[in-house]
Amino acid sequence: MTYELDHPEIRDAVAKLCEGFPGEYWRAKDREQAYPTEFVRALTENGYLSALIPEGLGGLGLPISAGAAILEEVHRAGCNAAACHAQMYTMGTVLRHGSDAQKAEYLPKIASGELRLQAFGVTEPTSGTDTTALRTTARREGDKYIVNGQKIWISRAEHSDLMVLLARTTPRDQVAKKTDGLSVFLVDMRKVQGLTIRPIRTMMNHATTELFFDNMEIPADSLIGEEGKGFRYILSGMNAERILIAAECVGDAKWFTAKSSTYASDRTVFARPIGQNQGVQFPIAKAYADLRAAELMLREAIRLYEAGENPGEEANLAKMLCADASWAAAEACVQTHGGFGFAEEYDVERKFREARLYQVAPISTNLVLSYVAEHVLKMPRSY
Ligand SMILES: Cc1cc2nc3c(=O)[nH]c(=O)nc-3n(C[C@H](O)[C@H](O)[C@H](O)COP(=O)(O)OP(=O)(O)OC[C@H]3O[C@@H](n4cnc5c(N)ncnc54)[C@H](O)[C@@H]3O)c2cc1C
Repeated sequence: MTYELDHPEIRDAVAKLCEGFPGEYWRAKDREQAYPTEFVRALTENGYLSALIPEGLGGLGLPISAGAAILEEVHRAGCNAAACHAQMYTMGTVLRHGSDAQKAEYLPKIASGELRLQAFGVTEPTSGTDTTALRTTARREGDKYIVNGQKIWISRAEHSDLMVLLARTTPRDQVAKKTDGLSVFLVDMRKVQGLTIRPIRTMMNHATTELFFDNMEIPADSLIGEEGKGFRYILSGMNAERILIAAECVGDAKWFTAKSSTYASDRTVFARPIGQNQGVQFPIAKAYADLRAAELMLREAIRLYEAGENPGEEANLAKMLCADASWAAAEACVQTHGGFGFAEEYDVERKFREARLYQVAPISTNLVLSYVAEHVLKMPRSY
């Protein structure tokens, strides 16, 4: 890779930090489905997870391009930021829509690592992608809300103190628009009763869980912003989420491509390196081309985001194209490694499993295409 990248000092420092967490570390965690506590601690202590929190609130006050550079480098090094990336975008909900008191109370502690904001509770088993159909309710009673319902795929809930939670405060049949009547809460999970967290084992090590709320009481001042406007608040954080996840996919694609090209040059079969065969070279070169194109879309999304625009189109496209590029690179990498692509010790199969997620979450490819069809190309709404 010869082209210039932004934030070179941050990238070098993150790459150096990641050297302390080699393949053996991730393999052991993967085998046990254990949380990479040491890695998350190292990122926190070096301030990387609070990169986007303003300086006045204890963070580094950096632009989103720096957050993207950090996550890309983590993945380019073969590590996995899924254990902690949510903190970068969920804190944006508190920052943009929280009261001054909430910001002052929580953001400096999140920045210092005293509090972890790793959990983001939106998805439910029955509503799935149709977020406004969610059934978890929060009912106001005096100075508290009573929460009942269920969430699924809520990652890192066992390794977080706080959770940004989306729940319905006005029944769907009593609001003019189905997007109204949803509210966002900042739940201090250390202090609540009536919350059950059950881990879900998945094909990769992701610390994801299902949550059950049984008359869970939270103080009324847990509400972020105005009651009933929560869906809008969640949407306003989506561009940042898409951009940051796309950056991880770019990092993965670079890891796979480097791994493939190195192996193809070293592995000798029929008395010559397998990489001498164009049948081996071309999928790797094609994956590299896809990666470069996807990376340009990501840069455009970042440019617009940092100019204060609302780059819904570019952020969605970047997320989809970068996830596709990493998946193509993953496929080429397994194929290049032949049987060794399946062996744990090469890390390829682990990264392959990890990369697959981004076709589905945090937004699936179909839903990105549907956004583009409806909002960019102005075709009829399909749902
Ligand atoms: C490991 C993991 C971690 C996750 N972490 C979190 C988290 O921390 N917090 C959180 O809130 N959620 C989280 N999610 C949930 C994730 O965002 C959803 O799984 C994802 O948005 C898809 O929703 P679903 O699983 O309900 O699929 P469904 O909505 O049931 O959809 C299934 C398939 O049908 C397709 N589909 C559905 N409707 C349409 C349509 N109208 N047109 C075309 N295709 C359609 C989808 O694209 C998808 O491929 C996580 C998921 C996973 C697997």
